[in-house]
Amino acid sequence: MAEQKYKIGPVWVIAEQTDCRLLSVSTQLIGQARKLADELNTSVETVLLGDAIERQTQALIAAGADRVYLGDAPGLAFYHPETYTEIIVNLALEHRPEIVLIGSTAMGRELAPLVAARLKTGLTAHCIDLVLDQDRNLEQRIPAYGGLLSIICPERRPQMATVAGGVFPTPEPDENRSGKIVELRVPEIVSDRIKTLEIVRQDPEGVSLEVADIVVAGGAGAGDLEGWNKIADLAGTLNAALGSTRPAVDEGWTELATMIGQSGKMISPQLYIGVGLSGEQQHLVGVVDAKVMVAINNDEKSPVFEQVDYGIVDDCREFVPVLIQKIEAYLEKKVAC
Ligand SMILES: Cc1cc2nc3c(=O)[nH]c(=O)nc-3n(C[C@H](O)[C@H](O)[C@H](O)COP(=O)(O)OP(=O)(O)OC[C@H]3O[C@@H](n4cnc5c(N)ncnc54)[C@H](O)[C@@H]3O)c2cc1C
Repeated sequence: MAEQKYKIGPVWVIAEQTDCRLLSVSTQLIGQARKLADELNTSVETVLLGDAIERQTQALIAAGADRVYLGDAPGLAFYHPETYTEIIVNLALEHRPEIVLIGSTAMGRELAPLVAARLKTGLTAHCIDLVLDQDRNLEQRIPAYGGLLSIICPERRPQMATVAGGVFPTPEPDENRSGKIVELRVPEIVSDRIKTLEIVRQDPEGVSLEVADIVVAGGAGAGDLEGWNKIADLAGTLNAALGSTRPAVDEGWTELATMIGQSGKMISPQLYIGVGLSGEQQHLVGVVDAKVMVAINNDEKSPVFEQVDYGIVDDCREFVPVLIQKIEAYLEKKVAC
């Protein structure tokens, strides 16, 4: 083991809330931070910013945090990249965390690189595992080159990583845990270059991917928007959530919110049906513990068939409409009985 060059700082989690409710990725990250901190013999600390959020601190402590830095002020009600960065960077310079973990949410994807750049350290996005190596560096694991790539940041601190919700389990809350709450003196908005005028919430369409029992995911093999719409119809017929691979998003057939995988959503359905996709690791890493997996692909040698329980070799543009008809006929018969 390499000689310890410095005193080990705390493991930090930048927690996130919306409408005064903690996001589950925050408690999941605290659960993992707890494991890392125990191995490093250090503490878990979280930063929580918002307005009227004091009640959320207990949930952070129950999940495993020893200390919560709480910035609770009307000016922090909405995420403001420059103000949030300023607060976190100043705190980090004062308390020198060893590791900083942030959820790969819309906020985290922006905030993490802003903070890392100001702290002149590295950042690994969309990690799917975090462990310590023999020198107690954080191995930040991402899928790459058909395997897992471990990235370390041995020369700079903190070691920073973003992780999507669902990668780590939600820890069982321990309501008997106690921790320290440190109230921050928060600055006014540090810059008025960005202003949140209004938040307009978009109602999610159809079944939510993260909780769906059935997921139909489409890929580049859809060919065009018409082919894609057939895959979306299949999802509708099965009352399933519609998922996608990156090419389907890049083609503009579907929203980024449907993307499954390393840089998208993590899903755990009972049934996963992959249509016109090759089963690349960056996609399938997002399919965690699916009970049954099916693939429809016109290339019998497609690697996706090695990853699934059932494979159908056919042109999805022809097969999917027939499948929909069969399912509809079956459902009608069931209702009639
Ligand atoms: C850092 C990084 C992060 C990434 N993150 C993600 C992520 O989160 N999610 C993600 O999905 N991707 C991600 N990717 C991209 C990923 O590596 C793959 O490129 C992508 O998943 C491939 O999508 P695909 O299977 O739809 O396309 P392709 O690999 O092109 O496969 C298309 C498949 O469709 C089949 N096909 C073609 N025509 C038909 C037809 N008519 N009927 C039936 N089958 C047909 C082909 O045989 C082929 O197998 C990431 C990449 C990188 C580098």
